[in-house]
Amino acid sequence: MKKQIEKKYQTQLDNLITLLKNTKFLTNENVESAIRNVQRHDFVLMSDVDKAYYNEPLAIMKNQTISQPAVVSRMTEWLDVKKGQKILEVGTGSGWQTAILSYLVGDGTIFSVELHPELVEFAQNNLKKLDINNVNVILNDGSLGYPDAAPYDRIIITAACSKIPSLLFDQLNQNGLLIAPVGNSSQSLVLLKKTSQGIIEIKNESNYVFVPLLGKFGKR
Ligand code: SAM
Repeated sequence: MKKQIEKKYQTQLDNLITLLKNTKFLTNENVESAIRNVQRHDFVLMSDVDKAYYNEPLAIMKNQTISQPAVVSRMTEWLDVKKGQKILEVGTGSGWQTAILSYLVGDGTIFSVELHPELVEFAQNNLKKLDINNVNVILNDGSLGYPDAAPYDRIIITAACSKIPSLLFDQLNQNGLLIAPVGNSSQSLVLLKKTSQGIIEIKNESNYVFVPLLGKFGKR
């Protein structure tokens, strides 16, 4: 997918990229290329299209949000996505993060699970407009993961968990990475790796705020 950005958004996107680089939320060329190509204005509500390149989360539907660009950039960089990988995303929302992952895996595949039917439809429409066809959006409780297509090379949870549901680790490949915001009123972004010795923490950064992970193994 390579799409020419409309002129009116180009400066706003350039300014956002500069901000993300200056604040060190964007350091990787491939992720920059993904953020440039998967244009955020295709994933926001029509009423917010003029704010698409603000470094802010924006309301979508069902009291949910499209994530803040800095957060999407940080999570995507930490996840260290490679071409050909199979990725599970829990919490599709608008599909913007999903589309960024789809761009980075090339001929790999994304399975993205979303709890709200309205958002499944919203994300599917957004992805369809851009001819993205390596993504499966699934209506289900993502706190259960998606065992049908497991194991995954990477798992990303885009909503806050008090504790990462343990069955997600069962669905992760050996040497696979999982990223999630963990905590209650404020969360730490944690990057974990599944090794032969067990799960080890690779990175941890505090002071994030995400909407809660709902569902059977969601936030209590
Ligand atoms: N990264 C997305 C984007 O850029 O649009 C935004 C994700 S939003 C912060 C978190 C999403 O997780 C919401 O769409 C919410 O409905 C979804 N969610 C919460 N609990 C869930 C669950 N148990 N299973 C699946 N999705 C869930």
